[in-house]
Amino acid sequence: MTGHPDHPTLHVSTHPAVLHKLALLRSADTEPKKFRELVREISWLVGYEALADARLRSIRVETPMEDTDGQELADRIGLVPILRAGLGMVDAMLELMPTAQVWHLGLFRDERTLRPVEYYNKLPDSATVDLCLILDPMLATGGSATAAIEVLKRWGAERIKLVNLIAAPEGVQTVEEAHPDVPIYTAALDRQLNDKGYIMPGLGDAGDRQFGTGHES
Ligand code: URA
Repeated sequence: MTGHPDHPTLHVSTHPAVLHKLALLRSADTEPKKFRELVREISWLVGYEALADARLRSIRVETPMEDTDGQELADRIGLVPILRAGLGMVDAMLELMPTAQVWHLGLFRDERTLRPVEYYNKLPDSATVDLCLILDPMLATGGSATAAIEVLKRWGAERIKLVNLIAAPEGVQTVEEAHPDVPIYTAALDRQLNDKGYIMPGLGDAGDRQFGTGHES
C-alpha cells in the first residue's frame, strides 16, 4: 500500500492479490454470492494495511519450551459500518480483530438537500474505543464519510480511519479538506463520479450487488 502523491492522507493498495480480486469484484458477471466473498477478502487485505500502526503492549508468553516476550493489541478498536453496504466488510475486520466492537451507523442521502441524514445510531454516550475504522465500500461524494466522521468526533473518537474498497477523487478531496487527520485506505482510486453520483468505472451499487437487489423487473 502506497501513499498517494496528490493526496497525503490516501493509501491505495498496489498488492497483486488485491488488484486481481478487484477486477473480479468490478465485473458485471460476478454474482452476489461471489461478490460478497470478494468484498470480504478485499476488506481483509485493506483492513490489514489500515491496522498496521495499531498500538501494542508487551506481554510474556509461555511456549511449550520456555517463556518468551510477546505482544498484544493495546488499542480498543471500534468498527463502524455504514449501512447497508458497509455490513459486508464487518466479518473480515472481525477476523483480523476479534475483540473489536461494532457500532452500526445508518445514513441516507436526502434527495432534496443532497445532505446525509442519520437514521440509525447505536453509539453509546461517550467513546469506548481508541481507534475507529469507518467501513464503507464506496467513497463517492464523501458526504456520508464526512457525516460519519463528524458523528464519531462529536462522540469523542480521537483516532479515526476510513476503509473503502473504491474511492472517487471527489470523495477523497472532500474528506481530506474537512478532516485532514483521517487517513483513507482503499483498494482503488477511480477516475470520477458520473452525474448520478456513481463512481466510474466503479462497480455499480455496492449494496445492490451484495444483497441481490436493484433489479427493476
Ligand atoms: N455507492 C455505490 O454503491 N456505488 C457508487 O458508485 C457510488 C456510491
